[in-house]
Amino acid sequence: MKEQLVSLVRLQHLDERIRTQTKRLASIPEELGEREAAFSAREAAAEQLEAERKSCLARAQDLENDVAKHELRITKLEEQIHGARDAGAVGVAQHEADGLRAKVAAAQEEALQLLEEADRYSADRDTARAEVEEQRKELESFREVVVSDEASLGEALAALQGERAELEQPLSTAARELYARVADARQGRAVAVMRGNSCSGCGSNLPPNEQVKVSAANALLPCRSCGRILVPQEVWAAGAE
Ligand SMILES: [Zn+2]
Repeated sequence: MKEQLVSLVRLQHLDERIRTQTKRLASIPEELGEREAAFSAREAAAEQLEAERKSCLARAQDLENDVAKHELRITKLEEQIHGARDAGAVGVAQHEADGLRAKVAAAQEEALQLLEEADRYSADRDTARAEVEEQRKELESFREVVVSDEASLGEALAALQGERAELEQPLSTAARELYARVADARQGRAVAVMRGNSCSGCGSNLPPNEQVKVSAANALLPCRSCGRILVPQEVWAAGAE
């Protein structure tokens, strides 16, 4: 029985390692996913700069078209002014031409600003795209590391599980089932050492007759308070080796 108790302590240590390795293995795709999402966001931000640049150019082009239209109309109005006899008609045409000249000046000014803005977007886009390329390379090498990490963690985990199967094999069905049940209920901590006169799992005091039974190490003795399988110090120490 004592050997079985030692094995249960070993099983608990092994399960702890298996949980740690499983968590590490599970965290790899998460981290990769986060990095990929961050990369996509940077890539989208760089392309957004390109979209802004195109939009500036398109707005500048619209303004140039307006200017061309206005200038055509101004030329026509000037011809009318030259050919007109009626002072009233000249005044009306003059007024319209002046209004259009003001619009042309404003549109040219705005178009110029838009072209300058497009230049700034162009420079920002180039910087952002260069950074994205750097990050693409980093992500690629991270992916390679991940693949080899996953492989070696997977191997380590398989080895631990093999060890676990070997350790569990000679245990009695009762010991195995009790361990599994308590481990489930107690976050994997199915075994607790008796420290002084109390259970190290929950801290409750053990009655003297229980203490004697635990010290004898010849039965599966669950703590009355937390249900963990109690073992004496020497069994605990042997299982930790
Ligand atoms: Zn307890």
